[in-house]
Amino acid sequence: MTDSTDPVILIVEDEPAQLELLCYNLEKENYNVIRAENGEDALMLVEEETPDLILLDWMLPDLSGLKVCRSLKGNLKHSNIPIIMLTARGEEDDRIRGLDTGADDYVIKPYSVKELLARVRAVLRRLRPGSVVERLEHGGVIVDTSKHRVTVRGRVVDLGPTEFRLLLTLIEKPGRVWSRDQLLDRVWGRSADVGTRTVDVHVGRLRKSLGSTGEENPIRTVRGFGYSFGG
Ligand code: CA
Repeated sequence: MTDSTDPVILIVEDEPAQLELLCYNLEKENYNVIRAENGEDALMLVEEETPDLILLDWMLPDLSGLKVCRSLKGNLKHSNIPIIMLTARGEEDDRIRGLDTGADDYVIKPYSVKELLARVRAVLRRLRPGSVVERLEHGGVIVDTSKHRVTVRGRVVDLGPTEFRLLLTLIEKPGRVWSRDQLLDRVWGRSADVGTRTVDVHVGRLRKSLGSTGEENPIRTVRGFGYSFGG
């Protein structure tokens, strides 16, 4: 059973069999599914329903998936809605162009539904906190997700996208201890091909950005386990 608090997913796919398969599987996972069979309808539905995530087929009649993606990512009102592109094998250049235009992930057809569902979960985990809470504050650090801005005791700090997501994850639950694997899952997503060492590298960068004023750094190392923010 779905209810109104479950994430809304827009599927844009012109092949009826594919569309049905996706709807069936996503509804089984308790997502609220809305559907469009072409780009124009997709843009209209985004305007009306503001979905939490969009699965966007690359090859659509008339307005292509690429154009839909560009249009949404270029519009401040919708640019934070994550998009997973569905692309056919052999469209390698297109895949890369898709990511250049701001798509958050892509899946190659024919895809395994299980893998696609895992990607959906990873993207929602990674990006949804920011679309729900606008301002998080702890220990002098303020994250304003609507402006994508971080300040430390009034000083604006410039963070890369990974450091920003990492900070968002940590500051969401001050005092909670995260293992490196949990952070990998939340910040990079399960499908990412990175190791736990990557977590250390980015925590190091984040610490440096947050802590150059000499006060105690808010990110604590929990030896042999991982990290926590404050606490
Ligand atoms: Ca198609």
